[in-house]
Amino acid sequence: MTVLPVRTVPDPVLRTPAAAVPDGQDVRGLVADMTETMHAVGGVGLAAPQVGVGLRVFVFDVAGAAGHVLNPVLETSGAPLREPGEGCLSVPGLRYHPARASEAVVRGTDVEGRPVEYRGTGLLARCLQHETDHLDGVLYVDRLDGEERREARRRLRAQTPEPEARRIAARRDGLVDSAFTRRRPGASDRPGGPR
Ligand code: ZN
Repeated sequence: MTVLPVRTVPDPVLRTPAAAVPDGQDVRGLVADMTETMHAVGGVGLAAPQVGVGLRVFVFDVAGAAGHVLNPVLETSGAPLREPGEGCLSVPGLRYHPARASEAVVRGTDVEGRPVEYRGTGLLARCLQHETDHLDGVLYVDRLDGEERREARRRLRAQTPEPEARRIAARRDGLVDSAFTRRRPGASDRPGGPR
């Protein structure tokens, strides 16, 4: 197993909706690496785009529940709650309080193709919503409103992009000659390139 580098904003892979894991595709290695990475960096959840892979997979380990889901379908219910707040490995150094449904269930499959269902309230519900959002290219800071939203935007603008993220952004914007690029796993390889 391998600890993978975690992509951070403004890496475009975080803003690219992930593709469904095709039937029969073996993602056991990916899930093992993502789980090891999540534990190594002290996260409670990690979605494949956060390690540069544009597939609908996430792993989690929070509030006594742990697992992974391929092609999750999310259903929420209950009153929206702002506590206890959220952070994100891909948006380092920030913590805010997006409103999240108090109950959530995801249904999908495991790496063996068997159906799985995870149901939770509180932190687990928040985590399931946060990770499913990642697969749609949505970050938790998008879910903020009011003063928190303004402050988050200000602080994100002030952050210096990491060199790798700058390189990807430059390629996306057509500023880098194609000879400079190389193939990378994940969403960036899909037709049309990063969005
Ligand atoms: Zn996150």
